[in-house]
Amino acid sequence: PELAHDLKASVRTIVDYPKPGILFRDITTLLGDARSFRRAVDELVQPWAGLKIDKVAGMEARGFIIGGAVAHQLSAGFVPIRKKGKLPHTTVRIAYSLEYGIDEMEVHADAIKPGERVILVDDLIATGGTAEGAVKLMRQIGAEVMAACFIIDLPDLGGAAKLRAMNVPVRTLMTFD
Ligand code: 5GP
Repeated sequence: PELAHDLKASVRTIVDYPKPGILFRDITTLLGDARSFRRAVDELVQPWAGLKIDKVAGMEARGFIIGGAVAHQLSAGFVPIRKKGKLPHTTVRIAYSLEYGIDEMEVHADAIKPGERVILVDDLIATGGTAEGAVKLMRQIGAEVMAACFIIDLPDLGGAAKLRAMNVPVRTLMTFD
């Protein structure tokens, strides 16, 4: 509880960003504080410390920062999941739902060997549209998705429940209403 409280206090809330009525949870303040960044990464990896995880997949862009640190901590490889058009080699692409409309994300087709054990990482889960797309994409290229980790859960938006319904264990460090 004390740890969670400390970490939660390191997240900054921006009112009316990116548009009126939205409370944006800004993790740059958590990342910028050495103790908070270390604690967040340590807490996220804790269930898998000592287990064999082959790859950590991070969602562009904040998932790259946290996912890179998580991969290093687990001695796993890192796989970027990017917005369409950014990856140079042969990709697999999937459409996913955003709050308004859809977008597409992609991954290199050879980023995962069939059966490799993968953990997904992003900074925050809201509706789960982004993470759901990432799970489908990873499964499409043969990954065994072991879990999805997020620093922040917005439980009222149902994303974590959506992932659990897809048989993906979800780990989050704090919630905001
Ligand atoms: P979802 O697809 O679950 O609805 O939205 C999650 C995605 O949007 C994540 O990639 C996350 O980075 C971004 N996102 C949505 N709202 C916020 C927010 O308040 N703070 C941060 N840091 N990211 C957000």
